[in-house]
Amino acid sequence: MPIERVVEAEAKETPEEQVLENTLRPQSFKEYIGQERLKTNLGLAIAAAKQRGESLEHVLLYGPPGLGKTTMAGVIAREMGANYRITSGPAIDRPADLASLLTSLQPNDVLFIDEIHRLHRGVEEILYSAMEDFKLDITIGKGPAGRSVRLDLPPFTLIGATTRTGALAGPLRDRFGIVHRLEYYTEPEIARIVDRSSVILGVKLEAVAAELLSTRARLTPRIANRLLKRVRDYADIHNSSVIDAPTVNAALQMLEIDEFGLDAADRAMLLTIHDKYGERPVGLTTIAALTGDEPATIEDYYEPYLMQIGFLERTPRGRKVTERAREHLGFKPDKLKMF
Ligand code: ADP
Repeated sequence: MPIERVVEAEAKETPEEQVLENTLRPQSFKEYIGQERLKTNLGLAIAAAKQRGESLEHVLLYGPPGLGKTTMAGVIAREMGANYRITSGPAIDRPADLASLLTSLQPNDVLFIDEIHRLHRGVEEILYSAMEDFKLDITIGKGPAGRSVRLDLPPFTLIGATTRTGALAGPLRDRFGIVHRLEYYTEPEIARIVDRSSVILGVKLEAVAAELLSTRARLTPRIANRLLKRVRDYADIHNSSVIDAPTVNAALQMLEIDEFGLDAADRAMLLTIHDKYGERPVGLTTIAALTGDEPATIEDYYEPYLMQIGFLERTPRGRKVTERAREHLGFKPDKLKMF
């Protein structure tokens, strides 16, 4: 059984986690902390679309998991005053499933497709004319008797979310009018997010404790909220009514999360690469073989944050553990180094 990683930015499917996420999800631009450039650009586009009485252009949001793509899609729908439909790439099995979803839309509805890079090819192709001309091309019947028909769709807005734009087919990517990357948050923004969450959860969180938490949450709101919950559990067990800095420290120590927000799995991965390859670059598939993870897991979940904090470097010849990581993790100087 895979070990549960508290600092994993991927959404967890447990009902409890879902409820927590939904309770804490910001509902408006005002509540949505950070990502100022995104909010400004979208705010303008939404105001203009509303003024013209049109649907908003299609929006593609990309970036590492847990940074607020799903949340932003909901905020956009609400700001547009539109109905909001939500699905995901892997959930749409056949072209007919997407066709029935599209034909059930009302004018100006917002359709959110999470993990849009995982749509099947045949399903994806239906989206091209749907997005471009609000037309649905379907084939009725099979073989020589089959004929193709073109149906009109109401104008709608597709919001796609992906952790990797590179995996998106060009024709699909080109059909989004607004393409935006979500950035990692700053520590003060994460501190504001946990502060807001603590109010919603009815937890007394001291300002210094929020600050401390913000340095351990991998600059990711989902992880910040998850850590807050773990710290709250710890405080409850120890009968502390207020979460202060020592409580945060003790809880994180128990979870083996260090001052960079790295957990045992991150440290083990860096150590394995260092041990086997020293300062030499190593390919993604080799790292995956060493750690027993899927290459995509490393690319989507481990790597982006390790690169953001300068612990892992991507070179044309592979990934390298940096000097900064070596220092932090107390690795011995590389004995393989020749000069
Ligand atoms: P993604 O779709 O990028 O994986 P989500 O939108 O599901 O991420 O966000 C994960 C959680 O983080 C949400 O439940 C929400 O509570 C919180 N969150 C994300 N972005 C923000 C933000 N800008 N301000 C406050 N909370 C946020």
